[in-house]
Amino acid sequence: MKTFNYHSAKDVKEASKLASSSSAFLAGGMTTIPSMKLGLATYKNIIDIKGIKKLSGIKVSGKAVTIGATTKHAEVANSKEIKKAIPSLAALAEGIGDPQVRNRGTIGGSIANNDPAADYPSACIALNAVIHTNSRKIDAEKFFKGMFETVLKSGEIIEAIEFQVPQKSNYQKFPNPASRYAIVGVYVAKHKNGINVAVTGAKSCVYNDKDLAKTLSSNFSAASINNVRVSSSGMNSDIHASAEYRANMVKVFAKKAVEAC
Ligand SMILES: Cc1cc2nc3c(=O)[nH]c(=O)nc-3n(C[C@H](O)[C@H](O)[C@H](O)COP(=O)(O)OP(=O)(O)OC[C@H]3O[C@@H](n4cnc5c(N)ncnc54)[C@H](O)[C@@H]3O)c2cc1C
Repeated sequence: MKTFNYHSAKDVKEASKLASSSSAFLAGGMTTIPSMKLGLATYKNIIDIKGIKKLSGIKVSGKAVTIGATTKHAEVANSKEIKKAIPSLAALAEGIGDPQVRNRGTIGGSIANNDPAADYPSACIALNAVIHTNSRKIDAEKFFKGMFETVLKSGEIIEAIEFQVPQKSNYQKFPNPASRYAIVGVYVAKHKNGINVAVTGAKSCVYNDKDLAKTLSSNFSAASINNVRVSSSGMNSDIHASAEYRANMVKVFAKKAVEAC
């Protein structure tokens, strides 16, 4: 690992001011530290945001669940309030990685990193999330730009993620047996104003499958999904699963999610 300067920021303003094109924020460090150790990334400045109180915590109201950016996966998984308001979100957090990863990794780090196989981006899309940063509020549909890419600007810090409480929802994934990242994950959410079917792991970036959502809007049943054709075009193909296999898994896991709603 190359040498770097470590800063522990006292507040969001200081953290943002320290940021540059050669810095990274340190939240859980579950991506940043292994990337540095493996020589995949080098930074001159590491800005630790874990100590900023404002960035952590869970607030639940009738309509929304708002989670601070440095809230750990284990805290989401174990929150009684989240389990009651959006059980599928707590279950998703419980399915991330292993106990070590869940006790260090954070929701803000996960969505800022936007790994194509990460779980939380699908929750953001399915649950019409609004990403609160230190300078603006961004709808999830506009936040995830591409593989490991978001619309975040240099120095922009995610402060919290606000999820809409759905009428029904469920997340199902086929986990990589080693890491538990999603080979394919499908998050179905039925809201008063529409249905979202967010898919992760299948393409280079999370997406909302509009065809599945449209079909479920007219008939919310697993059987209705049989008639939808999910194309393998643009899907990932690797040692774990071919594009065709992933396309089929999208249907299979969408059906499972609807059945479990
Ligand atoms: C072995 C292993 C297994 C895993 N399995 C899964 C899995 O099954 N599913 C899954 O979804 N994930 C999985 N992960 C990822 C993990 O859950 C973390 O969410 C992820 O690594 C990033 O979160 P972090 O808090 O560790 O971020 P960090 O590593 O600290 O930061 C990652 C990036 O996000 C940026 N960042 C962090 N916080 C903010 C913020 N508030 N505002 C703006 N930018 C920010 C940093 O600058 C950095 O570029 C796994 C990781 C490991 C190591």
